[in-house]
Amino acid sequence: MILLANVTTFLVTRSKAIKVVSTCSFLRIRQMAKQTKTKRKLAHPTLPMQGQLNLQHEGTHFDLRPIFDRLNERYFRGRLRGYKVMWGRRRKHRPREYFVFGTIQEEDRVIRINPLLDQPFVPLWFLQYVLYHEMLHSVVPDESVRGGRRRVHTEEFNRREREFRNYRRARRWEEENLSRFLR
Ligand SMILES: [Zn+2]
Repeated sequence: MILLANVTTFLVTRSKAIKVVSTCSFLRIRQMAKQTKTKRKLAHPTLPMQGQLNLQHEGTHFDLRPIFDRLNERYFRGRLRGYKVMWGRRRKHRPREYFVFGTIQEEDRVIRINPLLDQPFVPLWFLQYVLYHEMLHSVVPDESVRGGRRRVHTEEFNRREREFRNYRRARRWEEENLSRFLR
C-alpha cells in the first residue's frame, strides 16, 4: 500500500504578500497485485441528503463531531479550535484507482471525510484513525522540499501517526478493505 503525499501548494504573490497554503489528501492507491484477489462488488450505499440539513458532520452511522471532540481531548489536549469537520461531497461512482479517505484544508480549518466511510462495516476505530490523521496535520508543521514545494507527511508526522492507539489495526483493516471502496 502506498501513501501518496499529495501536497498542493499555492504560491500567491501579490505585491509583498506571499501566502502558502498546504492541504493534505489522505489517499491510498490500489495495490495492483491484490486487485483480483480482494476485489469485491458492493452495492452503492444510499446516504441521506446532508447539505440541506446543515448538519454536515452527522452521517447515517457516524456523527463526526463527537468523534472529533474526543480525539481532540485525548491526543491534542483540546488544542484544535475552530475546526469544522464534515462528510465530503458524495460522488456518483466509487473511484477505480485510489480512495481519498479525508482531506484537511488548513486555511479554512475544514476537515472533510469521505462519505463512503459512513457505513456500518467501517469500524469506529478506523474512522477515528482517518480523522486523527487529518487532525495531526494541524499540529505537525510541514517542511519545504526542493523547488519550493511543501511536504506534509514528514518523518515527524509519520512518527506521531503511529501513536494513534489502533494504528496497526487500522492499517491492516485498511489494507484488507480498500477494495470495497473502489470499483
Ligand atoms: Zn495527510
